[in-house]
Amino acid sequence: MLCNKKETANVKKRIKRLAWILLAGFLVIIFRLWYLQLIKGNQFRDRAKSNRIRLIHINAQRGRIYDRYKNILVKNVRSFNVLAVPNEIKDIDATVKLLSETLGLEQAFITRKLCNLSHKGYSAIKLASNISLEKVTLIEERSSLLPGIFIQIEPRRKYILGESAAYITGHVRQIRKGEIEKKQYHIFQYNEFKGEGGVEEAFDNLLKGSDGGKQIEVNSRGEQVALLVEKKPERGSNIILAIDKHMQEFVSKLLEDKTGTIIVMDPQNGDILAMAGSPSYDPDIFNAPVLQTDLDALEKKDAPLLNRAVSALYAPGSIFKILMVGAGLKHNVVTYNQKLECEGHLKIGKDILYCWDRAGHGSMNMSDAIRDSCDVYFYRLGLKLGIDRIADFADACGLGKLTGIKLPGEKSGLLPDKNWRKKRPWYSGDTALLSIGQSYLLVTPIQLVSLISAVANGGIIYRPRILSQTQPEQIGKLPCSKETIRQIKKALCEVVSDKGTGKFAQVKGLEIAGKTSTVQVVKMRHISKYKDIPYKFRDHAMFVAFAPVKNPQIALVVIVEHGGEGGKVAAPIAKQIFKWYIKNRNGKS
Ligand SMILES: [Zn+2]
Repeated sequence: MLCNKKETANVKKRIKRLAWILLAGFLVIIFRLWYLQLIKGNQFRDRAKSNRIRLIHINAQRGRIYDRYKNILVKNVRSFNVLAVPNEIKDIDATVKLLSETLGLEQAFITRKLCNLSHKGYSAIKLASNISLEKVTLIEERSSLLPGIFIQIEPRRKYILGESAAYITGHVRQIRKGEIEKKQYHIFQYNEFKGEGGVEEAFDNLLKGSDGGKQIEVNSRGEQVALLVEKKPERGSNIILAIDKHMQEFVSKLLEDKTGTIIVMDPQNGDILAMAGSPSYDPDIFNAPVLQTDLDALEKKDAPLLNRAVSALYAPGSIFKILMVGAGLKHNVVTYNQKLECEGHLKIGKDILYCWDRAGHGSMNMSDAIRDSCDVYFYRLGLKLGIDRIADFADACGLGKLTGIKLPGEKSGLLPDKNWRKKRPWYSGDTALLSIGQSYLLVTPIQLVSLISAVANGGIIYRPRILSQTQPEQIGKLPCSKETIRQIKKALCEVVSDKGTGKFAQVKGLEIAGKTSTVQVVKMRHISKYKDIPYKFRDHAMFVAFAPVKNPQIALVVIVEHGGEGGKVAAPIAKQIFKWYIKNRNGKS
């Protein structure tokens, strides 16, 4: 009992102590609340009013792009943007008015941006990109009148060659609304720019890096008082292209005032040394939000965003005769020296097909026929081969399918065969026309340069290589013997001889093999004078070639749309490129 009494007293004592502790605790809390609310209340209220949270997106620096000699093609420069945090703007009308005066932007444009409900009030939104230093100074000077408006420095793409290499580099542009899933729209994950066209698109994943962002607390003057969260942006990887910057510049100049494309390839590994297209465009205009006036100007040009080298489709015309020689020799339907007759035309069933020289070339062997680009010889050769063997041979040479070049927008072209034409049967006349590269056959310039490169190197078809950091890749083989390829080369050398259609490509001291092509756009029966033919109905001028014949170092295709004769227009352009190569690059890789 005694023991129990003692225990009860102890328990009471402990309860009493606990009660005192709790009471003391409550008193401390009450005192703290009284202190915070009554003594410090005003101070905290002021701070809460003046301090704001800002979310700022930080673009990652994209990787740099170099040419094969490590010359820079695309770099990043500093750019100044004007950002606004809608929540911090006190007088929206006054802010819009002052900004409009300072930046030279329409008031309606600024108001629309600021009132866009999809923006969170504390997220910084971009009002203007890449503004001049004068405007930066003006904004800074007027900062006290522009609460919620501040300058951000971010990297901007600079395209060293501009229009000259636009189809190689492509450009970057701001991601449009709706192009990205909402859940990805997070300040620390969202890439604001994406690559479009050229290697900017093809290697966007390598180049883009990872954007960053920060959450900061600023005071009423817009000064940072605390950094709450930060994710540093990660720079994208640099890439090295197979392109030769100086050759690219030179080649693109050759297309000034023309419509067309030129590709120069290293036939020994498929490297794209130069790829130019005209008309071109300025990749810099996409750096900032694109203005309608810029887009209108682009519209007026002839499809400037189309990379003709990989996306444009042409009938190859007489260039196809190279394949006909290969197929003819492979299947033993003719020998190199066997002569076939050209009387200027050939009657096939009810149709009469003409040679480009209606007077007729007379009796010709394979070499003569290639040199003079006689059509009737190839009508006859085509009829001996038949459509199936021609189509199989062309298919093995890579026509009608993608080369797999790492550039966006490549087209496969069209290689018709007997089964392709559904509406009516395939006639012998169709085979004859196909034999001179007309009919329904369509190829891309990149297929043509790959083909002539394969002839140059003895038969290997390489995948056209854009990135020099990757290994050369063989994607096919010409379906003929070394001896046949030797005979094709011999005939192609005749084309660039004094008597050949490609004589205007000749360069002293350099042995060149090539083939001209003049592709009829429409049939012109009644107009005899070339200058009387409207531009859009004029023939396309084409030329493929490689040199030096014994140890080929460059292969090329030149296409001038509506340029006229291949031998007179495209071959002289190729001559310029060969001359430049001899002077600047021969033996200096
Ligand atoms: Zn002929």
